[in-house]
This record gives sequence, structure tokens and C-alpha cells, in this order.
Amino acid sequence: MTQKPCPWTGERVFEIRRALGRRLKEAGIQEAEIEARHMLGAVLDEWPDPDLRLDKTGAQALEAMVLRREAREPLSHILGAWGFWSLDLAVSKDVLTPRPETERLIEIALGHLGQGPLKILDLGTGSGAILLSLLQERPDAMGLAVDRSPAALQTAMQNAQSLKLDTRTMFVEGDWDAALPHGPFDLVVSNPPYIAHDEIATLEPEVRRYEPVLALDGGMDGLDAYRAILPLLPHYIKPGGAFVLEIGADQGAAVSDMAQAQAGLGDICVSQDLGGRDRVVSGLCN
Ligand code: GLN
Repeated sequence: MTQKPCPWTGERVFEIRRALGRRLKEAGIQEAEIEARHMLGAVLDEWPDPDLRLDKTGAQALEAMVLRREAREPLSHILGAWGFWSLDLAVSKDVLTPRPETERLIEIALGHLGQGPLKILDLGTGSGAILLSLLQERPDAMGLAVDRSPAALQTAMQNAQSLKLDTRTMFVEGDWDAALPHGPFDLVVSNPPYIAHDEIATLEPEVRRYEPVLALDGGMDGLDAYRAILPLLPHYIKPGGAFVLEIGADQGAAVSDMAQAQAGLGDICVSQDLGGRDRVVSGLCN
């Protein structure tokens, strides 16, 4: 039986980039051109002379990536790494791939941080994206990362180590109401699961097939995590400290009301992401 030759062998990089872009577009991938560049970049040591040709090993590696991507596996899982804020983070199927919208949470959180030394708590840390970005920006801070998933905590620990932030990060496996050491905190951050249960089936295949449902499913109305977290915040936060939570675009009013009425939190503010959608609820603990 003759084997089909690997499509990219011996082809020039600039031709591959175009053909790859077309193939990804046909698979329904929106940012096909950009992703084609990323994939090619991953099989080449550096961005090469456009006339360079791919050898057999490179061509096979590229084809393996394309086949996974055509099955709508997220590019972040295929590359095993993803950029967020100023960090290059390891990601896996056990953590939510950090989204650009979540960078808004970082901006708002930084605005709430006064003079150090500071203690920050991240509930549902996943890859550690939020906490590690804040620790990177604030060398006078230490952080506690909590997650229910041991596999997610492994990824977060790996990220803390590779970013040399592990000496300032502690990890606890547990639920929202885990008995937490080192409190109270100056700041509590969280990007909890907030998708309404029935909506999960309607999400893009990358998300619904490959991302951890534990990090997405917010129960019937998407608000379960806020119901659990908000009443705990007065116990976790120092008087005058802040909280910054990511929310779904239609959850601003509900989460603000809960923060005020059920948890007695103050100075509540809903902020938008770059797309103009409500994305963050923040406030203070008096
Ligand atoms: N922003 C994510 C999405 O739309 C959901 C994140 C979450 O539930 N915390 O897929």
C-alpha cells in the first residue's frame, strides 16, 4: 500500500501559509490566517525566509496539527501554550484557555491595589492566568490560588514555576468555601463558571467539546458560583479591600444586586470589555 505523501513536504513556507489559511477557513475557523501563522511558527524555529521549504519532519508535524485543528480542537491545546496579559502560559484540557476579555479584570484589579505588601486570593484559578498576571505586575504581593480540580492546580503550579512566581504563590485544592490559610486578603479575584447550563451545548465546538465543563457551567441561570462566592467575600477580604469578578455579558445587574443585598458589599461597579459588553463586577468590602 502506498502512503499518501504529507501535503506540505518540500513546499515553500509562503505557499504553505496561504494553503493552510484556506484549509482552516474551510473547517469553519474564523481567524484562519492568524492561526496558520501560529501553526507554522510552531514547527519552525523562527519566522523564516518565505522561500524556505519544509522538511519531512516539519511537514508531518504541521499536518498533525492541522488535522487536530480541523476537528476543532482549540489552537491553545495544540500549541500547549497561550499568551495572556504579559505572560506565556501553559494550558491544557483541564483549564479554561485564558480569554482576552479577562485582561479587563486584570486592569481593574490593578487599579484597586494600594501600597504593599499585598495578599491576593484567586478563586477557581485554572491556569493561574489572573493571579500570576497580578503577581508579575506587583512584586510586593503574594497570592493564594484555589481550585477544585487537582489537574488544573498542577497546570497553575507549572506556570508559577516557569514564571518564577512560585515563591510568592500558594495553592489550595478546594471549593469556594474551603478553609483558606493566609487570609484575610487585600483583593479577591475570580473568573468563575458563568455559562447557563443549557447554553453550553450552543457554544463553539472548541469550547463545548474540549474545555473543562467545570470551568464553564454556572448552573440553571449561570449564577450559581456568584451565589456561593459573594456571601463569603466579607470573610475573605480585609475591611477596605476589594473584589473583582468576571461575569457573563447579561449578568451585570444580577451580580451587582446580589453583591449589595446578600453580601453587603459596597462601591459596586460594572465594567465593560473592549467589545463594550459587561464583563466585570468589582467593589469594596467595608
Ligand atoms: N468566557 C468564557 C466563554 O465564553 C466563559 C468563562 C466562564 O464561564 N468563566 O466561553
